[in-house]
Amino acid sequence: MFWKEKTLSDMSDDEWESLCDGCGHCCVWKFEDEDSSEILYTDIRCKLFNDNTCQCTDYKQRSALVPECMNIRTFNDQQFNWLPTTCAYRLLHEGKPLFPWHHLICHDKDAVHQAEISLQNKTVCGEQFTEEDIIHHIIDPDENSQ
Ligand code: SF4
Ligand code: SF4
Repeated sequence: MFWKEKTLSDMSDDEWESLCDGCGHCCVWKFEDEDSSEILYTDIRCKLFNDNTCQCTDYKQRSALVPECMNIRTFNDQQFNWLPTTCAYRLLHEGKPLFPWHHLICHDKDAVHQAEISLQNKTVCGEQFTEEDIIHHIIDPDENSQ
């Protein structure tokens, strides 16, 4: 149970990567509300996101292919708030336990989908949208987190 014994910054690359539950919420378009500074999530997916597997289709090349792809390992305290409240990185950063459906707890990578936490089969392709359309695609990434 390395995630209970180590801080995020002390984790190896493999340990760090294994924390991601594959929910897909960091792979959709997001924007910041100018008035509240709140990060608003949409169901519009990144061009490399596979809606069915809920995975990045070119994870190794992601930074080159999608410059705006987030590197959570470089986040400061404030930036962890950009992540959904179910995200393992945010939970551990806040000193909270992982959820029972997390694969490191239940040993089942499909559990995140079965618990309705993930965006599997719930996103739309971004190519067909304009900036004006985005407002109609806002979602709450935390709606099933309780
Ligand atoms: S929000 Fe967190 S757990 Fe979900 S895909 Fe992104 S990094 Fe992984
Ligand atoms: S490049 Fe890959 S990891 Fe980054 S946002 Fe897009 S689908 Fe997600």
